[in-house]
Amino acid sequence: MLRLPPFRYLAPRTVVQAVHLLAQEGEQAMPVAGGTDLYPNMKRRQFTPSVLVGLRGIPELKRIDGSPEQGMCIGAGVTLSALASHSLIQRHYSALATAAASVSTPQLRNMGTLGGNLLLDTRCNYYNQTEFWRHSIGYCMKKDGDICLVAPGSSRCWAISSADTAPVLVSLGARVRLVSERGEREIAVRELFRDDGMHPYTKASDELLTAILLPPADDWRSVYLKLRRRGSFDFPILGVAAALRLTAEGIVTDARLTLGAVASYPVEANEAASKLLHHTPDRELIDAVAVAAAKRAKPLDNADLTINYRKQVTPIYVRRALKQLIEENKGEIAFTS
Ligand SMILES: Cc1cc2nc3c(=O)[nH]c(=O)nc-3n(C[C@H](O)[C@H](O)[C@H](O)COP(=O)(O)OP(=O)(O)OC[C@H]3O[C@@H](n4cnc5c(N)ncnc54)[C@H](O)[C@@H]3O)c2cc1C
Ligand code: SF4
Repeated sequence: MLRLPPFRYLAPRTVVQAVHLLAQEGEQAMPVAGGTDLYPNMKRRQFTPSVLVGLRGIPELKRIDGSPEQGMCIGAGVTLSALASHSLIQRHYSALATAAASVSTPQLRNMGTLGGNLLLDTRCNYYNQTEFWRHSIGYCMKKDGDICLVAPGSSRCWAISSADTAPVLVSLGARVRLVSERGEREIAVRELFRDDGMHPYTKASDELLTAILLPPADDWRSVYLKLRRRGSFDFPILGVAAALRLTAEGIVTDARLTLGAVASYPVEANEAASKLLHHTPDRELIDAVAVAAAKRAKPLDNADLTINYRKQVTPIYVRRALKQLIEENKGEIAFTS
């Protein structure tokens, strides 16, 4: 049995108390929300904080406010279950509801939060293993070792951003609020990430993610498609988040595409998506966009399924996502597959 290392658990009741504790305890402390990512990682000794600042007792992190007309504010501590079943999110930000509903299992979605999902640790076949397993292969540079076992000549880690909601929030143009004792700042979700499997977030260790801010829905329509080995529960091997604005005649006036689980950060393919602008997309155009978008994905041999398969399936998933989105809003398009 894998056991947790010893730690002190602090239970603030407000954001002010929580950021004070993070500042006071310094680098030895980490926040914990649902714990569905952090506790297993602690059992595998990938993280060994001596202090955990628990966020579950902070009511202000669990609110969903606002409206699709004005934009919505989702507390970082809102559970994935609450998000997936929220009627306004389902109707106006449907890709987000789909992504939240696709994470893991019902039990873990009841505990896991949106904030914790966005800040999920990057994943790799050589890293998401027990301490014993990692010790037996001499560890890797993400934790306790010196080299990357996927790309031994590389000076960086290529672990993958695997959070289902991350590509969706990028495509929706969402922002996040970060609070510390030093003050408060808001940044676009895309700016929360960096292309670095070891240090994937731009958030400082004393900063708490308090809210995710969705812009007004404003006729945007969105969809999320997820490829995984087991349909019942699994991390994504590929996530496609597409968002479009269409006129009543089906002409695309705005388009965003983001790919998840293909790099250490959610990869935007907006140049490819821009080919849709001012067109009523037909099959040929969607195929061309899908092929161009898929070129942004450069899978390495550190996730489930083969690289070849993952490469081949990417344009197919992009095409399916766009087709679904356009058909839902405009009616049938003649596709052969
Ligand atoms: C079997 C299994 C299957 C899973 N499948 C999936 C899947 O398919 N897709 C997927 O995306 N995830 C999956 N997960 C991972 C996890 O369950 C989810 O990502 C979940 O949303 C994490 O949220 P949490 O609240 O439990 O995060 P926690 O474990 O509490 O925290 C995760 C990280 O975020 C930090 N953190 C949390 N909240 C804040 C905050 N407000 N401010 C600052 N830092 C914070 C923590 O310090 C930690 O580093 C799976 C996990 C397991 C065990
Ligand atoms: S990509 Fe390389 S360094 Fe990063 S976790 Fe995998 S093996 Fe380790």
